[in-house]
Formats: sequence, C-alpha cells, structure tokens
Amino acid sequence: MPFGRPGGHLINLLDLDAAGLAALFADLGEKPFRAKQVSHWVHQRLVGEIAAMTDLSRTLREKLAAVVAIGGPVVVSDTTAADGTRKWLLDVGGGNAVEMVYIPEDDRGTLCISSQAGCALDCAFCSTGKQGFNRNLTTAEIVGQLWHANRALLADGISVPWVDQGRAPITNVVLMGMGEPLANYDRVVSALRIFLDDNAYGLSRRRVTLSTSGLVPAIDRLREDCPVALAVSLHAGNDALRDRLVPINRKYPLAQLLAASLRYLDRAPRDFITFEYVMLDGVNDTTDHARELAVLVRDVPCKFNLIPWNPFPGAGFETSPRSRILSFQRTLVDAGFVTTIRKTRGEDIDAACGQLAGRVQDRTRRHIRIHGAPATTAAH
Ligand code: SAH
Ligand code: SF4
Repeated sequence: MPFGRPGGHLINLLDLDAAGLAALFADLGEKPFRAKQVSHWVHQRLVGEIAAMTDLSRTLREKLAAVVAIGGPVVVSDTTAADGTRKWLLDVGGGNAVEMVYIPEDDRGTLCISSQAGCALDCAFCSTGKQGFNRNLTTAEIVGQLWHANRALLADGISVPWVDQGRAPITNVVLMGMGEPLANYDRVVSALRIFLDDNAYGLSRRRVTLSTSGLVPAIDRLREDCPVALAVSLHAGNDALRDRLVPINRKYPLAQLLAASLRYLDRAPRDFITFEYVMLDGVNDTTDHARELAVLVRDVPCKFNLIPWNPFPGAGFETSPRSRILSFQRTLVDAGFVTTIRKTRGEDIDAACGQLAGRVQDRTRRHIRIHGAPATTAAH
C-alpha cells in the first residue's frame, strides 16, 4: 500500500488519531481498549503490518486486515550529511515528492517534517515557495514521516542514551519543512494530536513546534485546538518590507500577527513565542532594522532565532555576512531579547532550512489564492 494512499477500500491506520481509531473500533463492534492496543503497535512498536500485532487474536487480525493497513512512506532517496543530518525524499504521488530531515544533537533527536507538497504563499526567499503549490499532505503522510524516521533510525541501530532507555529516537518534531502547516489545518492538527497522544508518540507540547508565516485566524484556532510551541516567521520589522518578503503579510499585517502571537501565549506550552528571522544581505539585516524590530515586538514575550539565509539557484538574494548577523544579534540582545543564530546543518546535502525543494508539480495559480480565497482553503 503506497504512502498515504490506501489501496482500494483500505483505511490507512497512520491517518487516524485517537478519536478516529475509537470510531473505527466502535464500527467494528470491538471494545475501546483495542483501539489503544493497535495505536501502541503502530506508533510505539512501529510495526508495518497487522499480522505483527501478536497480542490480538487471529480472528481480530483478519477482521482488521480486511478494512485497514499501515501505509508508510515510499522513499525516493535517503542521504546522510557529514554532520549526521539525514534527509529523506518521499514520493507522495503524481510526480511530487516532499522532504524530511533528521537533526541529531547530544540531548535530542529532532525531525523536521513537511506539511504540503509545495507552498502557495510564495515567500520571496524560499525555495519551496518558488516551486508553487501542489497539494496538502494527508494526516497519514505527515504522521508517516515520524513513523518512518523512528523505524529507519532503529533499524540502523542508532545508539543514543534515550533509545537505550527504551524511548523513540525522535524526541522533538518541528513543522519547518515544506509547506505552510496552518494552510493544511485539519490534517496538521490531527497529526499533532497523534504526536502528543500518550498511546501514540507521547511527545510533550513543548517538544513539538509549528512554524507559520502568519495565518492569523488559524493561529487563533490552534490556540484553542492544540497549542503546541509556536514559531512565527517574522523576517521584517515593518509592513512595507514584510509585504515584499512574505506576501501573506498583505492580508494579515504585522499588528494583527503580533496581537495573535500575544493571544497564543496564554495557552502555549512555553512562555514565549519564537520569532524566526532570515538574514538577507542588504535587505533586512542592518542595525537599524534590528532596532526597529526590537521596538515592534516590545510587548510580546519572545525569543529571536536568526536564520542565515540558505542559498538556492536563481533566488536573487545573498546571505548576510557573519559580522552583520552578529551585530544584528548584539542589537537585539542589548534591547533585552534572547537571540540565537541557527546553526546550519546538512549543508552538503541541501538539507538546511528553506533548501528543502522536493519535487512539486504546480497546478495552482497561487497569487490568486493569496489575494482572493483564504489560503487556508487551498486546493486539496
Ligand atoms: N511555512 C512555514 C514553515 C516552513 S519554512 C513558515 O514559513 O514558517 C521554515 C522556516 O525556514 C521559516 O522561518 C522560513 O521563513 C525559513 N526559510 C525559508 N526559506 C529559507 C532559506 N532559503 N534560508 C533560510 N531560511 C528559510
Ligand atoms: Fe511557504 Fe514558509 Fe516557504 Fe513562505 S517560507 S513560501 S510560508 S514554506
């Protein structure tokens, strides 16, 4: 069964959150605890087939196999960089492929996952955006990324302390791969619920971070539905500049975005918002820009993460020189903001932020989406 595309009438178990599994087992006339048992098999023991669920009776396994299956990713390529960063390219059908990246660190294993094939929001400096938008990923395609990375790392005999203690290799998930997660709201929230569910991956809300370019109404919905840690892609301290870099700003300008960020904080698992800020040479990286930014966000408890821009062909931008990134950081720190500079990982395999290109067959007229219909209803 291909990734996210159940063969025939079969339901992909990777598509179902706890409520979905409960409904399935109710339909089958089975006891509710069976749903939890199956969830453990799929997401914790990471099995790939119903037959492996050995504490279910043979009759129940046969009954299940007639209606469900486990459809993990189809891997097109799997590359490991010199620094241990590993990138998988996953086929999602129709000539499209998305990427996910594993970033090993001493005290954690982070997986950067994709939420859409392409992106309709067309940020000026982003390689995914430049490729256009094809479609939203299904919940199974989003969850399947975590499921597959854990399986692959275990199969390769990963040796880190928490795995030796029986935990999964991936301890942190960031939705910072291809796509705008809040433009694929329902599927992303279902996937988040599976990440957090104690009967599935059991990650704490602080260990799951969603990065958004600023879809204000969806930030408010997320605050109600599933408030994980939030990163907001700011990239500019005034509307004129942000309109150019992040076109969705024309619809949800900075004042609205900052107000939504502040509202989010009363439900957020951390007491600050992370503002991401990509450093573009001569565009948004002067000390004046930093001062303007500090004034703009003064009322929002936040931290800054400066991202040295990662080049891709034909982008028309340059990365800020290191000295300028350091002065920008110094200005923000002097103004009282915790400010980190993102380490660039996996450069030799194009696995760094915003270099995730995948393969996108664009079939949309994305400019109309941004200015016309809400981006959150982008094509399915
Ligand atoms: N769509 C979401 C999440 C995916 S992009 C968002 O925009 O937040 C994750 C982060 O990488 C964002 O902050 C984005 O602005 C940044 N990014 C995009 N292209 C980049 C590039 N070429 N170099 C560095 N960062 C980039
Ligand atoms: Fe989409 Fe984020 Fe890239 Fe903007 S930066 S085009 S929102 S993926």
